[in-house]
Amino acid sequence: MNTWIFQGNPRFFDVDTYIKNHKYIWWSLRQEHFLDKIELDDEVFLWRSDGNNRGTGGILAKAKVISLPVERTNDETAQNYWYTDEWKNPYLAVELEVLQVKWEGGFINRLSLLEHPVLKDLLILRQRTQTNYLLSQRHAITLQKLWNNSHDIIKSKVSVESDMKNLISDDITETEREQVIKSRIGQSAFKKGLLAIENKCRLCGVTNEQFLVASHIKPWNEANHQERLDIDNGLLLCPNHDALFDKGYISFDTDGKIIISDYLDEGTRIFLNINENMNIEMNEGQQEYMKWHKEYLLIN
Ligand SMILES: [Zn+2]
Repeated sequence: MNTWIFQGNPRFFDVDTYIKNHKYIWWSLRQEHFLDKIELDDEVFLWRSDGNNRGTGGILAKAKVISLPVERTNDETAQNYWYTDEWKNPYLAVELEVLQVKWEGGFINRLSLLEHPVLKDLLILRQRTQTNYLLSQRHAITLQKLWNNSHDIIKSKVSVESDMKNLISDDITETEREQVIKSRIGQSAFKKGLLAIENKCRLCGVTNEQFLVASHIKPWNEANHQERLDIDNGLLLCPNHDALFDKGYISFDTDGKIIISDYLDEGTRIFLNINENMNIEMNEGQQEYMKWHKEYLLIN
């Protein structure tokens, strides 16, 4: 399976409305040397370019390929989306099924990709005028991870209050709801549970409770209700080590040995107190969560 980025320019075409109104859409294949590369079920990230608004471009949807490239001519409904007469011309296109759209929360802005240790090398950031970009496997895996986790930033801004409102409508039992609310308020129940079994950062000597973070191994947003409350899904860490773990710059093998991302430079390793000899002990439950962390969050 291939992973692609397909780009659309809002100066010529109303990309947002097209994606908003249709689950099944057509996208041009302009880089014709890809004709034989496109396969059914290929993954496609849809990129709306800056157009006339600098700094607004980026990835807003994920789709999959459901037809091989065909020569087609638009019907007149396409006219609504075009600002030019180009819709009248026959063109080579593939049909896509839109799987997920992230309008604001989770939209991956081009500017944030320029700072990303791996994805800053994406071809679309340097050669900005193509329509179709085929991603290397490394870029594909990294972008998938980023997309899967890209609601985190928004989510973390959501207040405890509105989280609790959401809980009222969630389909969970009364007991679960109570537990979730308890653990959500300042993470107190979760943190207390962890403090009962460990009393310092897993990786260094910080013991002051005020500076210990009850970090979820499988992040809150990815976890189900049971996993959110499960003490095995927690790791007590100091703020530095929590930040590295949370952002995927470190993870752990099943035997507890630390894995440090190649993208963490030597200086940062030293200043944030990380080295290859570190390891932690984990029970079976923690190992399971850690497998998830290593696979989906580690930047490699
Ligand atoms: Zn630490």
